[in-house]
Amino acid sequence: MSTERFLAVALPVPLRRLFTYKTTNPQSLLGCRVRVPFGRQHLIGVVVAEPATCDLDHHTLKSIEATIDQTPALPLGDVWTLIHKAARYYHHSLGEAFATALPNALAKGEPAQLTPEKHWHVTAEGRAQQPTLAANAVRMKRAMTLLVTAEHGLSDSELKAHDVASTTLKSLANKGWIVAQLRTPTATPVALGVAKQLNAEQQHIVDQMAQLSTEFAVGLIDGVTGSGKTEVYLHVIAQVVQQAQQVLLLVPEIGLTPQTLRRFEQRFPGQVAVMHSGMTDRQRLETWLKARDGHIRVLIGTRSSIFTPLPDLALIIIDEEHDASFKQQDGFRYHARDLAILRAQLKNIPVLLGSATPSLESLKHALSGRYHHFKLSERATGQSLPMVKLVDCKNQPLSEGFAKPLLDAMDAALKAGQQVLVFLNRRGYAPVLLCHQCGWIADCTRCDSYMTLHQSNQKRYLQCHHCGRYQNDICQCPKCNSNQLLDIGQGTERIEQFLTARYPDISLQRIDRDTTRRKQAMANYVEAAQKGETQLLIGTQMLAKGHHFPKVTLVAVLDIDGALFSSDFRAPERAAQLITQVAGRAGRAELKGQVLVQTHYPEHPLLQALTANDYPLLARQLFQERQHASLPPQTHMALFRAESLDKQAATDFLSFVRDAFRPLQQTLEIWGPVACAISRKSGRFRFQLVLNTSSRAELHNALSRTLPSIESAKVANKVRWSLDVDPQDLL
Ligand code: ADP
Ligand code: ZN
Ligand code: ZN
Repeated sequence: MSTERFLAVALPVPLRRLFTYKTTNPQSLLGCRVRVPFGRQHLIGVVVAEPATCDLDHHTLKSIEATIDQTPALPLGDVWTLIHKAARYYHHSLGEAFATALPNALAKGEPAQLTPEKHWHVTAEGRAQQPTLAANAVRMKRAMTLLVTAEHGLSDSELKAHDVASTTLKSLANKGWIVAQLRTPTATPVALGVAKQLNAEQQHIVDQMAQLSTEFAVGLIDGVTGSGKTEVYLHVIAQVVQQAQQVLLLVPEIGLTPQTLRRFEQRFPGQVAVMHSGMTDRQRLETWLKARDGHIRVLIGTRSSIFTPLPDLALIIIDEEHDASFKQQDGFRYHARDLAILRAQLKNIPVLLGSATPSLESLKHALSGRYHHFKLSERATGQSLPMVKLVDCKNQPLSEGFAKPLLDAMDAALKAGQQVLVFLNRRGYAPVLLCHQCGWIADCTRCDSYMTLHQSNQKRYLQCHHCGRYQNDICQCPKCNSNQLLDIGQGTERIEQFLTARYPDISLQRIDRDTTRRKQAMANYVEAAQKGETQLLIGTQMLAKGHHFPKVTLVAVLDIDGALFSSDFRAPERAAQLITQVAGRAGRAELKGQVLVQTHYPEHPLLQALTANDYPLLARQLFQERQHASLPPQTHMALFRAESLDKQAATDFLSFVRDAFRPLQQTLEIWGPVACAISRKSGRFRFQLVLNTSSRAELHNALSRTLPSIESAKVANKVRWSLDVDPQDLL
């Protein structure tokens, strides 16, 4: 009789514990995925330990239903350890951490092996017969031409990328002109494209990184927009690729522009792969497996790519390290930058962070000497940084939100054939629809917020930007029946309408989430702008990052005042980063750029500092303010949030949490419970409670000690609650 053994399984459920199951399989299953019964469900989990004994009654223990892997899908290496440490650090369920870290297809139980691909070659007969193809056999002709010229043949996916249909291949195979072999993809030999000659500041960074290449170290490139950070990455990556090792480059959600990607592919032909949220589960899995099996040398990806196993990983780079999209905002709320540093430590390799507007968190370490602080103080093209000027619009007549000096500047730039970028971080037509008679405002019935009026493509409708609720436009006030409804305020659609009327002969493009829903839309707009075909660009923060529009000389920032008075303590930092980044789009090539920022508060210290074009100085000021106010990065925070249809249940839960931490009040500030800034969303009331302390260790001790009682409390069952360690977003 085979003997029973115990398995500790991490399951994708919120409970912060492991679950024990039995198996008679004599082989070690550590790291393997198994399917298990869980209540009435069947779940897929990861075996994280094989305990020799078990305190529970053996007869009540259930057996696993199936083993999915024979060997661990995720090797028991640095990523394995990273996930364990991350789950502990964020006080999150290990099973959910695994489910987030693994590609969806693996979490769902798909096989973790690369499927061998068909690889096609032309036969001798095919070569001989090719000229006999009829003139109208266009598809076959094209496929043959591609295959005849490809020295090593082409794979199914490569042919598919060239729009060759599988039916065409079948027809050719039936004729005996081409044959296929099954082959697992492998890494292409190292070949490098031509690199740019670096300037002295850039070269210094590359040299330093070469010296640090065999140990854990963090470098921060603090380099103005257009200073050649990407060029430095390319050189540092080349050093690694030449040793046939691997690099992971993390980029923000919308930072992966086709332009940037092309730069990497040209420099490292055949060795670059991309991973982002727009891919199908299948594509993601393929890339993940290729990375794991060492067939990819440069992996460029967004947040969750930090969990990709790379056996020969020798360097991690985080571009735009300040970007908020590196922090996951729901479920397992990890920060990819912070985990990158942890991973580098585990693997004993260097990390390179880069930004024109570093986060205060990273600057703190750079200033204290913990990170190597690299500076790129000038633009690589030799252009000076654009002038930032404030346009005081207090008491000025505004046309659709534009003050006269702003319009004059736009007139001049457009007349001179230059490009203009208008930036407004608010999509839609108008943020508020109001009744002139009685003051009624169209608000969302499910959220504590107003409905945004949209008006494009001849369609008028209202939409809530928090829950997505859609409503046809109304022409009568539901309260007093008046038909005098006013659209208050400006969104990008309204500005588009206004500027189209004002500049009828100018080609114009709005770029926001609504115009870029279709795949490729963004890429097409950006390309048209780069070629100079679009002269006037209107956009939200999607337009702020990474793009290189050579002819932009004027950037107009319409509305920044809201950010100056937000209740989130990070709002000024974000506003400064955003303005610096948008400003960075101006004057990148031959023409000098200027940035006009419209405000009612020109004397505001933050805006004053921005006009000096000195982000480092501004950052130091913000940093000192945080120190005085005892806020991060001086302190460390954790945020409990509760949502419920029942207001009382939400506050009851957080009051319980507050009482649980009260004994620790000596070292821990407790703020709340208070209503969130959006106090109701999709019908649920939202409250939060913040823990703030100068000691990270204290915070984690307190959480470890207190969470079990919170998790098992009765009041916890009546609400949706979450814990966010190092929260980025306090609204
Ligand atoms: P960043 O990533 O800091 O915005 P990039 O690396 O994109 O900067 O460089 C900005 C521009 O300067 C690009 O057009 C790039 O080709 C050019 N550039 C970068 N480094 C050099 C260099 N050493 N010599 C000449 N041009 C450079
Ligand atoms: Zn009314
Ligand atoms: Zn809503």
